[in-house]
This record gives sequence, structure tokens and C-alpha cells, in this order.
Amino acid sequence: MLTLLLSSSDSDIAYAAKLLQEGETVAFPTETVYGLGACIFDEAAVKKIFAAKGRPSDNPLIAHISAPEQAAEIARDIPTEYDVLSEAFFPGPLTVVLRRKSNVPAIVSGGLDTIAIRMPAHSAALKLIEQAGQPVVAPSANKSGRPSPTCAKHVLDDLNGEIAAVIDGGECDVGIESTVVSLIDLERPPVILRPGSISAEEIAAALQCSVEYSTDKDVAASPGVRYRHYAPNAKVELVFPMQKIPEIGNCSVVLASSPPQEIPSSAEFRFLSAATLYAELRRADKKNVSAIFILLTPDITAQTGLMNRLTKAACIADEPQK
Ligand code: AMP
Ligand code: MG
Repeated sequence: MLTLLLSSSDSDIAYAAKLLQEGETVAFPTETVYGLGACIFDEAAVKKIFAAKGRPSDNPLIAHISAPEQAAEIARDIPTEYDVLSEAFFPGPLTVVLRRKSNVPAIVSGGLDTIAIRMPAHSAALKLIEQAGQPVVAPSANKSGRPSPTCAKHVLDDLNGEIAAVIDGGECDVGIESTVVSLIDLERPPVILRPGSISAEEIAAALQCSVEYSTDKDVAASPGVRYRHYAPNAKVELVFPMQKIPEIGNCSVVLASSPPQEIPSSAEFRFLSAATLYAELRRADKKNVSAIFILLTPDITAQTGLMNRLTKAACIADEPQK
């Protein structure tokens, strides 16, 4: 199959929506990362997403909506906390887990009776979902185990020939995946299943209640977080500002939020932020570098979502891995 590279023009988005309605998969930009979309009620199309990505079937997908009220088409028993969170953060990088309506194919949720919902803050994504006429399920548009794509080229690097089209919307602003919060068990505080750029503190402030981070027990409720995340081929080392960066091999990379005072002569400085991380990991692998040093300055350590991805890239996250 030839993968079409579409622009974000109205006519190209209309064509992409037609492809979705015909049961094809289309990758599209969001403010977090690029997603690989299919119409939620088209089970055969949803299966194509799992096949193209090589995604385990128990790893549920996020349903993307174009208006907060659209959640009622796919979720039931929606609590008032959803209204508060959607009012505060939609459109934006927050995914809310609710109870799934039985009209939604079980494959979407990897068999769970819940459904993860988000309204992306990207005009091309919103137009596409609106014109598809139903929520669009979309995991990140990468091969499973690769870094999430933050531009159309990353999508083609992984999925060219395996999906119908990709809409080019430039580089993603946020660069890491959405914060996922569960509102399933309201006997206890809402649970952050995956940290992202919207913090637990912001969610707690909006809801005026405490918010918890997931424990091992909650991982069963969000199978995706238990899969091993992308770790580049090169050794990744997290270093603090007072540490000396060693000379390793003949080509290494130092990722930092500003140029460090001293780096080894064989090392190259590259700018680190949530928005650049995945592109830098892809670039380091292409260049076959021997080591990636990540400088943990306070502005970086303060970002919980980014730190979560960095510890995973360095393989020091303490979660079970597959
Ligand atoms: P991705 O779209 O590839 O970033 O992955 C989606 C993330 O959302 C994974 O970590 C999933 O575990 C999580 N997720 C999706 N649907 C649900 C759900 N119904 N319940 C809990 N977590 C979910
Ligand atoms: Mg993903």
C-alpha cells in the first residue's frame, strides 16, 4: 500500500476523513505526538492499527473526540469530575479514563470495560475527527517499541506502506504523550496512570481534591504502562550538573536544556526539552552514537512527565517490563 503524505489543507483533511470512513487508518498530528487513527465503531479498521504497529492486543487505545460532549457517545455513568476536567483542560494533553459503553468494540480497550478519552488541541486533528463523524481511536503512530513520532517524517520512517495516509501538521508542540487520569473508582482519589505535561497538582487544583499516582495494582487497569518503553541502542546515562561527563567512544551526545560548561571533545551538545526528546533519541540511533548523557538540571527534574520518559529511556524505571 502506498502511504499518502497529505497536507493540513481543508481539502486534504476532508480526503483523510473519507479514508477513515472507508475503513482505512490515517496518521494525524496532535499537540502531544502523532496518532494513528481509525473510526472507533469500525472494528476491522481498529484491528488494522494493532497490525500496523505490531501492538499487543491488550494495550488499549485512546479515543479522540472533537467536543467534550462527544464522550457521552462512548462512555457511561460519566461523573461530574469529567465535566470539571474537560472544562479546565480540553482541548489539551489530558486523557480521562471512564466506563466504556457496550456499543464500543471491546478491542478498542484491550478487553477492559473502560475507555480512555481525550480532545486534542490541534486544529487538523479536531477537523479530522469532526468530519469522520465519530470518535477516532489513535495510539501513537510509531511501530511498537519505537519512540513516539513528533513529525510526519518519523511516522513514515516507521509505517510507510502500512497505513493509508499521514497528515503533515509540522512538529508537535508538547512532544510527550498525554497525562492519563482515571475516574473509574471514585471511592478513592483520581489516579494518574501516566504522567504527562499536565501535572497532578494542576489536576488536583481543578478538582479541588487530592490525586494519587498509580501503584503496581493500578497497572492492571492500564496495560500500556507495563510495556517496555523505548530505550535507544546507545547507553543512556542521567547525570547531575556537578558530575563530570566522561569521554566514551568516538561520538556521544549530551542532551541538556542549555549548553553545559564542559563537555568531552567527542561529544555533541543537543537541546533537550519534552518537545525535542523523541526526535533526539531517533537521531542518536541513526547516528549510531555510543552514549547519550542527559543533564538533569532543576528545570528538567521539575517536569514529572519528561522525567518519566527519561528514566524509561535509561532503563531505570522500576516498573515490570515485557
Ligand atoms: P499510546 O496511545 O500509545 O500513548 O498509549 C495509550 C496509553 O493510554 C497506554 O498507556 C494505555 O495503557 C492508556 N490507556 C488507554 N486506554 C486505557 C483504558 N481504558 N484504561 C487505562 N489506560 C488506558
Ligand atoms: Mg505509544
